[in-house]
Amino acid sequence: MTLRLYNTMSRRVEEVKQPDDMLKMYVCGITPYDHSHVGHAMSYIIFDVLRRFLEYRGFKVKHVQNYTDIDDRIIARAAERGITYDELAAIYIEEYEDEMRELNVLPADVYPRATQEIPQIIEMVQGLIEKGRAYAVESGDVYFDVRGDPGYGKLSGRDVDSMRAGARVEPGEEKHDPADFALWKAAKPGEPSWESPWGPGRPGWHIECSAMSYRYLGATLDMHGGGQDLIFPHHENEIAQAEGFTGVKPFVRHWLHNGWLTLDEEKMSKSLGNIITIREALERYGSDGIRIFVMTAHYRAPLAYSEEAMEAGKRAAERLQLAASVPGGEGPAADIPGDEYRERFGASMDDDLNTAGALASLFDLARNINRARDEGRAVDEAQATLRELAGVLGLTLRERETAQGADAFIELLVELRNDLRHEKQFALSDKVRDRLLDLGITLEDVQSGTRWRRRD
Ligand SMILES: [Zn+2]
Repeated sequence: MTLRLYNTMSRRVEEVKQPDDMLKMYVCGITPYDHSHVGHAMSYIIFDVLRRFLEYRGFKVKHVQNYTDIDDRIIARAAERGITYDELAAIYIEEYEDEMRELNVLPADVYPRATQEIPQIIEMVQGLIEKGRAYAVESGDVYFDVRGDPGYGKLSGRDVDSMRAGARVEPGEEKHDPADFALWKAAKPGEPSWESPWGPGRPGWHIECSAMSYRYLGATLDMHGGGQDLIFPHHENEIAQAEGFTGVKPFVRHWLHNGWLTLDEEKMSKSLGNIITIREALERYGSDGIRIFVMTAHYRAPLAYSEEAMEAGKRAAERLQLAASVPGGEGPAADIPGDEYRERFGASMDDDLNTAGALASLFDLARNINRARDEGRAVDEAQATLRELAGVLGLTLRERETAQGADAFIELLVELRNDLRHEKQFALSDKVRDRLLDLGITLEDVQSGTRWRRRD
């Protein structure tokens, strides 16, 4: 009963120790300039499952997740739409929070926003300059001095010389070294800006996470998570800033990174344009279906998006939902040992969050419930175990329905199908019947008309 998780820093699976007080967890949040996609859903579902399992194991977790509510993409998109940067960010933050609620992702304890943390960010930049770790240049930009940090590159395993070779100095930048990165960016004409000791400007991306995690969680975090694409440069830079400012090492005890979601063998990303939005996926597959799809793979492995895999997730969710909700018989209680299932489930999760193994024990439990029910046995207790363990994975096992209730829509479709049949449009009328069947609705033509029922 010891949770072990891979640590990106040590490149080993390590035991997670119970801290004296709260387990401090920081997860990098979104940049709200556009709809969030299934790749984001995957990452936040994984960290939600981790948090739920930690709490199930008795850890008290304090979870902080930021919003990068100012950056180049936000400024550009807001200008395109003729609204302010904060109006744009508010739209996508609200949408993200709605979608996370629907995905049954527990909210973080604090959601700091970069633009609301400017004094803390300035203080950290100032401190880094005073300690000789950063420098301001003529234009009003401030850069971190990578050469002055012998530990730089320890998370990503890169050496500074190779970074320097790959780094570009943009026109107008006055870096001492191409590998140096911006802590503070002087405002260009017309851009939103904040007053600072170096003139009007705005924070660089990396510094906000160091400043916010320090403010809300202190100098050392127990866990820090994000997608693998954040390892370099973002998390490498967070370490350099935080350890440079506080002098406390390590900044993070346990680094956790999830694999990419791929679509047609490429990473799903807004810049590549190959995205499925969370909204689309929720409508098609439901929260439990998406969560099961994500959990069938190991969190560190890449996961390939396909409609077939999402459909399979949805059907698996329906199987669990039926096993957990259809009442059993009047006979003696089924002989299904809940504790054995808890143990198997927990052993899988302890093993670097083997969610596929944990799901396998849920499906096994569901099969046993169905079998016992067919024998007329009572299954309430086994169903309660199934609900309990599914809940640790954030599965609601709720029947899917639209906000207005599905029945009226089903009736409308049945009526439409009958109209099509009268018009002898059989291809279309059959399509309606088949699609309803896919959704678990069976139609039965009787003398008085058409009856429909949910398949059980
Ligand atoms: Zn971050």
